[in-house]
Amino acid sequence: MGWRIDLPPQALPADLAALRADVRAFCARELAAHPPALRAKSWLCFDPSFSRKVAAQGWIGMTWPKRYGGGERSALARYVVLEEFLAAGAPVAAHWTGDRQSGPMLLRFGSEAQRMRFLPRLARAEIFFCIGMSEPDAGSDLAAIRTRGRKVDGGWRIDGAKLWTSNAQRSDFMITLVRTEPRGATRHEGLSQFVVDLRTPGITCRPILDLTGEPHFNEVVFEDALIPDDALVGVAGQGWAQVTSELALERSGPERFLSAYPLLAEAITTLSERGQLDKAGDALGRLLAHLMTLRQMSLSVAGLLEQGHDPATEAALIKDMGMNFEQEVPRIVEEALEATPDAIAVEPLARMLEMVTLLAPSFSIRGGTREIMRSIIARDLGLR
Ligand SMILES: Cc1cc2nc3c(=O)[nH]c(=O)nc-3n(C[C@H](O)[C@H](O)[C@H](O)COP(=O)(O)OP(=O)(O)OC[C@H]3O[C@@H](n4cnc5c(N)ncnc54)[C@H](O)[C@@H]3O)c2cc1C
Repeated sequence: MGWRIDLPPQALPADLAALRADVRAFCARELAAHPPALRAKSWLCFDPSFSRKVAAQGWIGMTWPKRYGGGERSALARYVVLEEFLAAGAPVAAHWTGDRQSGPMLLRFGSEAQRMRFLPRLARAEIFFCIGMSEPDAGSDLAAIRTRGRKVDGGWRIDGAKLWTSNAQRSDFMITLVRTEPRGATRHEGLSQFVVDLRTPGITCRPILDLTGEPHFNEVVFEDALIPDDALVGVAGQGWAQVTSELALERSGPERFLSAYPLLAEAITTLSERGQLDKAGDALGRLLAHLMTLRQMSLSVAGLLEQGHDPATEAALIKDMGMNFEQEVPRIVEEALEATPDAIAVEPLARMLEMVTLLAPSFSIRGGTREIMRSIIARDLGLR
């Protein structure tokens, strides 16, 4: 077999310990009154005022150039900050998309005017972004999108609908993928990306309730919405290559295995305080061992990204293994609590377990489904 997975060991530089201590102290201070159920929701919880406090610390856009409001820190420094936020269950959703995805996209493909217009405001948490890729009949098969952009005098007219757009109703801008030219030799030709102001006339957000009863995502309808020429990101017709590189940013970070961490930590603390860890020790210990392995793999990908490599297969592998792990956490915690019935009644733990149980089905859909991740891995390894 000619294939291999390349995950060299990557240690965190010792000088990041001080940064970790700062973030941990910040979270302890700012989240003292943050309810357990919301901590269990972790990076889905949208709180602009918390994001502005994070921005004031310089922890949004940490890796971006200073001239765009960034901090010119390393990707590993950013990694440490993310780990601490996720471990604390911090409500980071408001700035999450801009920091992880839309900002880096604009940095890479945007015009100088777009960078100057958006990045400093993103880094200050003054504006928030969402991602408009999926549509009613195009999720896994993203190239099947039908939202159309028509060139007119003064800009583009957009018609169509995006679906499952997280937090669109609370965001200011969306980077969206639109068909602007007929299909060429392949379906991947003729797609373009735009940065769209969601207050544009002709754009309507219709919130959709998720299993927890919250309007987390939306249908976003475009009806002859006129967006200006300078909303085009990168090159018209080249949106597919751009969007694929964006997806790589989504798949290997600590959010792919730490979403359920606050629940796991709370279960271990509660059971050990009650002297009940013995019965559940094996199962919870196995989860922790998996967690540390996933962390090493994810750190390795972060190191490769920092060195300018493109570890797409390894990133898909981490997403696949990470979402399996995250979905196992509520199941195993529930079993551990059934073995120790009086622990079930502990209010914070019960609320957290309920929340993660309701969220868990989405872990293997958002950011690319299990089957799609496995198809990517198999293709890249030459197995299909
Ligand atoms: C919590 C959450 C938040 C989201 N937020 C956003 C967002 O902000 N922006 C955005 O654009 N999208 C978002 N999405 C949408 C998400 O990216 C899509 O749901 C996902 O890509 C799957 O697409 P789909 O729903 O159309 O399902 P489909 O693609 O129709 O898939 C249905 C089933 O068929 C399987 N399948 C499909 N094709 C294949 C194949 N070729 N081989 C094998 N199996 C296959 C899938 O694995 C899945 O099990 C979000 C989804 C969730 C759950």
